[in-house]
Amino acid sequence: MIVSASNVQEAIQRAKDLGASKVLLQLPDGLKPRAFGIFSELSKHFSVVISSQSFYGACDVGSMDTYSRVDCIVQLGHTEIPNLRYPKPIIFIEHLYERDARIEASAFQILRSRGYSTVGLAFSVQYRQVAEGVREALEALGLRVLVGGVDGRMKYPGQVLGCNFSAIHSVQAMVDSIVVVSTGTFHALGAQLSTEKEVFIYDVSEGSLRSMREEADRFLRQRFAAISRAAGARKVCIVIDTKIGQYRPSLAAVVERQARESGKEVVTLATDEANPRDYENLMCDAVVFTGCPRVPIDDGGKFSMPVLTPQEFQMALGIKKGRYVLDEIVA
Ligand code: SF4
Repeated sequence: MIVSASNVQEAIQRAKDLGASKVLLQLPDGLKPRAFGIFSELSKHFSVVISSQSFYGACDVGSMDTYSRVDCIVQLGHTEIPNLRYPKPIIFIEHLYERDARIEASAFQILRSRGYSTVGLAFSVQYRQVAEGVREALEALGLRVLVGGVDGRMKYPGQVLGCNFSAIHSVQAMVDSIVVVSTGTFHALGAQLSTEKEVFIYDVSEGSLRSMREEADRFLRQRFAAISRAAGARKVCIVIDTKIGQYRPSLAAVVERQARESGKEVVTLATDEANPRDYENLMCDAVVFTGCPRVPIDDGGKFSMPVLTPQEFQMALGIKKGRYVLDEIVA
């Protein structure tokens, strides 16, 4: 990943264009090792403070308290969410993974061997350039490539977020399978859970392609175990995340009503960070998290009680039946 000197100069120019003199710098954990150098560059032009918080996406730009003390925010490493109304001028500087090698068409031969001829292409935003190389490789194999459209939460066609797979939904009826360009498994796993078509991850760090079907089956077994534990819960915490792009109070109100009607004892909580200890102290039997859909999935293991998405909880209550429904925040 890179945030280059020219990215930092772009941030400086854009903050100057806004007439800013006080700047708050926000960095995801992966870019914190660069903090001293970036701080030093920005400090030549502005009074700068770095937020020590972790920022996982453009859905999170800190608290109202911090806004009142600065003229603008510079957030590195993320891409804006176009439909959010940010309360202060915010400059997003993306980081892009640079393609350093030609992507071999042979890596995608498995798609041909399965008889697929039309493929949907999607990517996590930092691999936008790599996705172009993947498209060339797929086309070199004679495959037709379709890239999905955007909704208001996405800046680029084909982009997926951990909470939004609109790019997959918009092409799934027209393709035989889908390739997600990413690393780790979360985005590709979400993509597989959002469609019945077979999803493959092109793992940028390994330069290889693999199907997500088995991983999705394993994941579903774990989630259904959590859902069945939550079905017997007596005391339930419904959590609203106050981050600007994760704030879903209406959904929390619906789930709270459904929980009460099902005879559960309920409290609704507001937070901007899900801390397992808070729920231990509340002695609840299950947590329903209406903020980032990644929290129950990625961090659920840190809690002693089941932590569910709203849709999973509705399955536990018997309100939703049938196919597993992924939690997505759509525009
Ligand atoms: Fe990413 Fe979660 Fe924010 Fe969606 S809500 S943009 S998945 S951090």
